[in-house]
Parts: sequence; C-alpha cells; structure tokens
Amino acid sequence: MENIKNYNLEELKQELIKMGEKQYRAEQIFKWIHQENITSFDEMTNISLELREKLKQKYTLGVFNILKKQESSDGTVKYLFDVLDGNAIETVLMKYHFGYSICVSSQIGCKMGCKFCASTGIAFVRNLMSGEIVEQLLAVQRDQKIKISNVVFMGIGEPLDNYDNVVNAIRIINNPKGINIGARHISISTSGLVPKIYQLAEENIQCTLSISLHASSDEKRSEMMPVNNLYNIEQLMKACKYYIEKTNRRISFEYALAKENNDNLEDAKKLVKLLRGMNCHVNLIPINKIENGKFTKSSNEAILKFRDYLNDCGIVATVRRELGSDIDAACGQLRRKNLKNS
Ligand code: SAH
Repeated sequence: MENIKNYNLEELKQELIKMGEKQYRAEQIFKWIHQENITSFDEMTNISLELREKLKQKYTLGVFNILKKQESSDGTVKYLFDVLDGNAIETVLMKYHFGYSICVSSQIGCKMGCKFCASTGIAFVRNLMSGEIVEQLLAVQRDQKIKISNVVFMGIGEPLDNYDNVVNAIRIINNPKGINIGARHISISTSGLVPKIYQLAEENIQCTLSISLHASSDEKRSEMMPVNNLYNIEQLMKACKYYIEKTNRRISFEYALAKENNDNLEDAKKLVKLLRGMNCHVNLIPINKIENGKFTKSSNEAILKFRDYLNDCGIVATVRRELGSDIDAACGQLRRKNLKNS
C-alpha cells in the first residue's frame, strides 16, 4: 500500500479523480493529514464512510512510532523514529527565540563518506520517501503539540542525492493548504553535488541553500570530504555563483572548524579569496568530535580569530550555537539504526 503522505496536493487530486471522486475532496483530505495531523482515516469526519473505507484499502498514513526521545539541557529534543520497515532514523527539534526548527533526515544512512560525520559510519540503506520526510515534522508536531516554523535538511543523508523526494517533500511542506511553512524558512544543506545545484536553481523554490564547504583548498577538502574528488572547489563555486544569480538568494557556507586542520589564518585567507563578492554568509561550526574521528574542536580563541578575520574582510560570518551535543544531537552526530541488529 502507498503512503498517502507521498503525494503533493496536485498528485492527490489526480489520485482522487482516478477513484471517481471530486477534486475538492483532495483538499479536504490533504488538510486532515497535514493540518489536523490525524493518525487514522476515521478522523476525517467530513469524508463519507464509503470513501474513508476506500482510502483505507488503498493507502496508509505512514505514522511513525517513537522508539526513543532524548531531551537536552538546552531544550533540544532528539527523536529516534521507527520508519516501519525495520530501520530507524533520527530527527532533532531545536527551540530558538524565533520559534521551533526541525532538522530532518533525507536518507537512511549516507553515501558521502565525510570523515568527520557520524552519519557516514554505517552503510547506506535507502532514500526516504517524501511522505517519510514530511512525517518527521508531523510526528514531532503531534508529540509536542507545537507548530514548527523552520525546516533544515541537515539530518542523516545527502538531500541532493535524494533529489526528487526532497523537492517533492518541500512542495508538500510549503503548501498553504498543508503544513504551510514558507520556502524561505526551509534550508537544504549539501556536501556539494554540483549537477544537482544547477538543477535546484531551476526549480523556482525560494528555499535557502547551504553548502558544506569546510575547507578552502582542494587538498584539505578532499581529505575531509571524498565528494571533492568528484566536484572540486572551483566547480562548486561556479555552481554556487550560478545559483545566486538565478535565484537571487544568498547562499550559506558551512565551515566546521577542526583543530590544527582547517582553522588557521592561511585557511581563512583562502576562504576570503573564494567568497569575496559573493552574496553569502559563513556559518562557522565548532566541529563535534565523533567516535574514532581524527578531528577535534578548535579552541575558542581560534574560532573567534577565524570569524573576526572573515568579518574584517567584509565576509559575514557567525559561529553556530551548538545545540544538543549532550544527547549526540548536534551537527554530524546523527546515526541511523537497524532495529533487527541493535
Ligand atoms: N549531507 C548534507 C546534510 C547533512 S550534514 C551536507 O553535507 O550538508 C549537516 C551539516 O553538519 C553539514 O554542514 C555537515 O558538514 C555538518 N557536520 C557533519 N559532521 C559534523 C561534525 N562532526 N561537526 C560539525 N559539523 C558537522
């Protein structure tokens, strides 16, 4: 059976037409699912019993089970969800002064192999479907009885490696008849899949693009991120410039600072050269140490020096506040779990 949450509103209309129903039923059903956040078709009280039965025969609502919930001293909450096929993924809820932000996973496992990231440690299993991406928001909203205002695709997986499902999930989340989170409040983070950046530029979605850059020379970047051997910094920067030009949106560059690796003034100087004149923002992340990882966090002094140098050169740089590290919910600390083997 198909998960009904995989459909965007247009697709759902087509499904209803195929069933011999009127289009407006699709809007009603879409609202029940994404606004009322129901967990059973029986709750759709303005839908006839007969149609509810038909829906039950054909679709599931793909409601996740919460396997584990951990709360950090800073209010961050990490969920381990059973995605109903024996696998489990993590999702993180963060509380900011402007509202709630959710960090969603896009794949079960990850193929990218970044040396500093825990999500790499275990093999890739499969892409998440759009409905499974959307359900991460719905499940958290149900559990916390809140409305989420921001979404970041910074959990497990490489969102642009699951392009169609991620873009469709954004269209679903974005729909005013559904969860209704503005595209400007949705960020996609990528390790740098260049052809997909060009493709995204053409989509006409106003979401924010974040690039995991992490180094300012090919030598260092390739050492940290194997994807750099496929698409080097020059190719990546060209794609970023195209994206900015085409969408008129500012790009965010993420740079995780690792002690005596990429945190000295030489690295900062090269970074300035790369980014000068670009409509961008640099997010400096004190690197989180992972099990068996060789990278460790830079000193506070080095981090501030790096930031100040960029700012002095006219590049807007801020240090990302670290949330949830006491429950392994911070950047790079999320993992998938196999329910059968662990
Ligand atoms: N695959 C995507 C999204 C997931 S990672 C990407 O690479 O962008 C989300 C962010 O956390 C990325 O910028 C990633 O590089 C960063 N990150 C990964 N491991 C980290 C670590 N150990 N410490 C700090 N940031 C890390």
